[in-house]
Amino acid sequence: KTVTADDIRKSVEENDVRFLRLSFTDINGTLKAVEVPKSQLDKVLSNEIRFDGSSIDGFVRIEESDMVLYPDLSSWMVLPWTDKTGGKIGRLTCSVHKTNGEPFEGDPRNNLKRILKQMEDMGFSDFDIGFEAEFHLFKLSEDGNWTTEVPDNASYFDMTSSDEGAECRRDIVETLESIGFEVEAAHHEVGAGQQEIDFRFDDALTTADRVQTFKMVVRQIARQHGLYATFMAKPIEGEAGNGMHNNMSLFKDGKNAFYDANGEYHLSDTALFFLNGLLEHARAITAIANPTVNSYKRLIPGFEAPVYISWATKNRSPLVRIPDAEEINTRLEMRSADPTANPYLLLAACLAAGLQGIKEAKKPMAPITSNVFEMSEKEREERGIKPLPSTLHNALKAFKADDLIKSALGEHLTQSFIDSKELEWSQYNQSVSDWERNRYMGY
Ligand code: GLN
Ligand code: MG
Ligand code: MG
Ligand code: MG
Repeated sequence: KTVTADDIRKSVEENDVRFLRLSFTDINGTLKAVEVPKSQLDKVLSNEIRFDGSSIDGFVRIEESDMVLYPDLSSWMVLPWTDKTGGKIGRLTCSVHKTNGEPFEGDPRNNLKRILKQMEDMGFSDFDIGFEAEFHLFKLSEDGNWTTEVPDNASYFDMTSSDEGAECRRDIVETLESIGFEVEAAHHEVGAGQQEIDFRFDDALTTADRVQTFKMVVRQIARQHGLYATFMAKPIEGEAGNGMHNNMSLFKDGKNAFYDANGEYHLSDTALFFLNGLLEHARAITAIANPTVNSYKRLIPGFEAPVYISWATKNRSPLVRIPDAEEINTRLEMRSADPTANPYLLLAACLAAGLQGIKEAKKPMAPITSNVFEMSEKEREERGIKPLPSTLHNALKAFKADDLIKSALGEHLTQSFIDSKELEWSQYNQSVSDWERNRYMGY
């Protein structure tokens, strides 16, 4: 449904909205916002709200530090929890533009639109995405900081309804529904304190916008329950990490282009070619799908996270799985991504790799039917199964060597991404941890 400026004016009056929050996403996937009082509504609606972009990560370019926010009117929502905090806040997701009106290349959201346009030029109408974001809920300390104490000791699909974690999860689901999310599943995950909430798939831009809203809601509602939500990939060593499985399909002429009733595994050639593109660029994509030092502590054997570049129809150990599904839901499930990934960059990179695969029209390696972790190194080698990068450093090297994935981000974002991640890696490299002291102090 289209939302007009008048719909928003009406909603502001009806809901007694006092502030307008204009949000956008930086290179690291962090949601940023400019908040203005209601008196600025006309300026908001005519794309006149400016801000200084020079201190936003990934925007930094002094000569073009003045930025303008172009709100996406369809993203309008009154933040449901704000009536309690003195003045309701209305929220709009924005694209960042330059003062001359052109979209700013350093805005990950604009960049995703650019790759989506390339998809349309190839005759597809939609890149549909369903994310499965996992997260941990920890107790807050008395002074309001995170702890590593969990509010429950439940496990996968447990229904212990009395614990604070489950109550918080239900509250999150209801809040999401109240702002228009169609929540399809919500359950306790494998790890203590770990939860998963899935909302229905939609086109890539909508889903990327929603996942940003989703994280904001999860964090907010968790606090109201005296809990702290984290999307960190591996908060506790030796326990399950947080993934954000990325379920992808392409639509053409109103039909799922990945489905073919007569195809092997019910997959079309388009799906297999896309899959091959994804596998060929998987190492470079990892830098974006798993963008933190900590992300690589999740990509290890034993916790349902992938380590090797392979695919399968049933098995859950490989990078890509083809879930059993009817026509509309036929999709590729990429299981490496974690929720610290910037969703706009992730989807731009995956789509660019898949489209390249379609152009090259090559079939992927054979699917694996047994557990990749149980194969010998020799067997993996014979089948051409390569490992994912084992550290952020190695992933960055793969990223820098992959021209296609770099072009999926464009020059500005590629440079900001490399700068930001190389700094992160070098800071990590210089840090000395408890593990090292415990291990080496006796030397
Ligand atoms: N937590 C697992 C991961 O890290 C996924 C578990 C699951 O959803 N089956 O990806
Ligand atoms: Mg799931
Ligand atoms: Mg899960
Ligand atoms: Mg899944």
